[in-house]
Amino acid sequence: MTDISKETVLAALRRIAAPDGRGNIVSSGLVSEIAITDGKVMFALVADPQHMNSMESLRGVVEKVVAELPGVSRALVALTAEQPPARAPGPKVSSAQQLRNGIPGVKHLVAVASGKGGVGKSTTAINVALGLQSLGLKVAVLDADVYGPSMPKLFGLAGKPEASDAEGKRMKPMSRYGIEVASIGFLVDEDTPMIWRGPMVMSALTQLLREVSWGETDVMIVDMPPGTGDAQLTLAQQTPLSGAIIVSTPQDLALIDARKGLNMFRKVNVPVIGIVENMSYFVCTKCGERHEIFGHGGAREEAAMLGVPFLGEVPLDTEVRIRSDRGEPVVASMPNSLHAAIYRDIAARVWAAVEGGELSKPAPRITVES
Ligand code: ADP
Repeated sequence: MTDISKETVLAALRRIAAPDGRGNIVSSGLVSEIAITDGKVMFALVADPQHMNSMESLRGVVEKVVAELPGVSRALVALTAEQPPARAPGPKVSSAQQLRNGIPGVKHLVAVASGKGGVGKSTTAINVALGLQSLGLKVAVLDADVYGPSMPKLFGLAGKPEASDAEGKRMKPMSRYGIEVASIGFLVDEDTPMIWRGPMVMSALTQLLREVSWGETDVMIVDMPPGTGDAQLTLAQQTPLSGAIIVSTPQDLALIDARKGLNMFRKVNVPVIGIVENMSYFVCTKCGERHEIFGHGGAREEAAMLGVPFLGEVPLDTEVRIRSDRGEPVVASMPNSLHAAIYRDIAARVWAAVEGGELSKPAPRITVES
C-alpha cells in the first residue's frame, strides 16, 4: 500500500470549501494538526459551537474524502470547539451533547485525573471502577491516557478488540471482571511516538465513545491523561462528565499539581467529586507500624482548604503494585483486604455524589491566565 502523506491529505482538503464560502477549509484555519499512523489519518475540524449541526455534515464529507485517498486505511475526523477556557460553559453544551449522542446507554461519565504522572491515577481508576461494580452497578472504563494507556495491562487484557458489525466499523469493548474496557492503547501503535494536541485527543476519544458498542452502563470511569495541558483541558471541556476525581500523593509538589487539576475542572465547569490521597502511608509488614513517608495528611487538609470533599486515603503497599502489574487489581483479587475496603468506600462516596445529585456545578468563573 502506498504511504499517505500529510501533504496529500492537505491537498485533498484544500479542495473542500469553507462553510462561510470564503476559501477552503485549510486556508480558513479549520483543520487541526494531522496525525498519520499506519495509514490511519486523524485530525479535527474547528467548529463554531453555534453551527455544530452543519459542521457535523461537513465532518462526514471530509472524513469520506480522506478515507477514499489511496493509502488511507481509515479516516477519523472529529469536531472540536477550540475556545479559550473562560468561554467554556457555552461550547461545552453543544459538543458534549454531540458526544453524548454517541454513547447511548451510558448514564454517567466520571473522570479520574491527576496533576502529574505516576501518582497512581490509573490504579485508582480501575479499583474505584471495581468498587462501583461491587455496589451492583454496571461499570465501564475508558482509558483516555494518551501518554501511557495502562488499562490493557491493569486489566490483563491483550490483543485487539473484535468488530461488532459486519463492515468492521464498530468495535466491541474488551471485557474483564465484568467491566467493559476500551483503551486508546487499542487504537495507536505503542511504538509510534505521537505528539498529542487537544483536538487529536478528542479525535481518538470520540472514536472510542462513538465507535465502541458499549452496553448499558451506569457509570463510565474515564482515566484521563495526567497533567493539565491543552489535551487534558479539551478532554475535560468536551466530554460530558458528571464529575471528576483528583488523585494526589501527599507530597507538597503533587498537591500543587493537584490544585492545578482542580482549577482545570473548575474552569470548564465540571464538578470535582473529591480528592483521593494515594500512597498515603506505609504499614511495615515486619514491624506492623505505620510510616508516613511523605508526611501524610496533606491532601485531606488541602481538600478542606479548597472546599472539596476528601474521598479517602490509600496506603502504599507492594501487593498493590505487584498485583497491578499482573492484571489483578486488588479489589477483584483481594476483596477482603484493607485496600479493597478503602477503594469500595471511595466508590460509595463517588456514587453518592454522582447519583445523589450532590454535585452542583460551580458558578462559572472568569480566570485570568498568568
Ligand atoms: P499514574 O496513572 O498516575 O501514572 P499508576 O496508577 O500507573 O500511576 O501507578 C504508578 C505506579 O505506582 C504503578 O507501578 C502502580 O502499581 C504503583 N502504585 C499505585 N498506587 C499504589 C499504592 N497505593 N501502593 C503501591 N503501589 C502503587
